[in-house]
Amino acid sequence: MSVNPVCPLCESENESISHLFFQCSVSASVWNKLLQWLGQRRQAKAWEEELTLAVNHHNGNSATSTIYRMALTCCIYYMWQERNQIVFQGKRREISNLVKRIIQDVYFRGCLKVKLTNYLMMLNYYPS
Ligand SMILES: [Zn+2]
Repeated sequence: MSVNPVCPLCESENESISHLFFQCSVSASVWNKLLQWLGQRRQAKAWEEELTLAVNHHNGNSATSTIYRMALTCCIYYMWQERNQIVFQGKRREISNLVKRIIQDVYFRGCLKVKLTNYLMMLNYYPS
């Protein structure tokens, strides 16, 4: 079995963990929109830096930290799912659709927890 080394998302660079999360132009666009949604004034960073940021700055039980971690986890899950859908089914979604789906997922899962509802009311929008 031959494996295509090129990233199925952007089709321009070789695939690796650090490329997929988030040096890839496609996954970086999705994470950048989610960062904008969360009011984080920064761009997507390399995998190791994103992990360090999540562990050091978003590790608490506050609503902002909880939603941040949910958004990051959900983004990773959706990008992996998108990659597999392109590879195995040849289907590709628009970046804006992926962003909306992730936001809906985080939003509705978050609404199940009472302590998150006030913060989520401020996140009841899609980033432009
Ligand atoms: Zn890529």
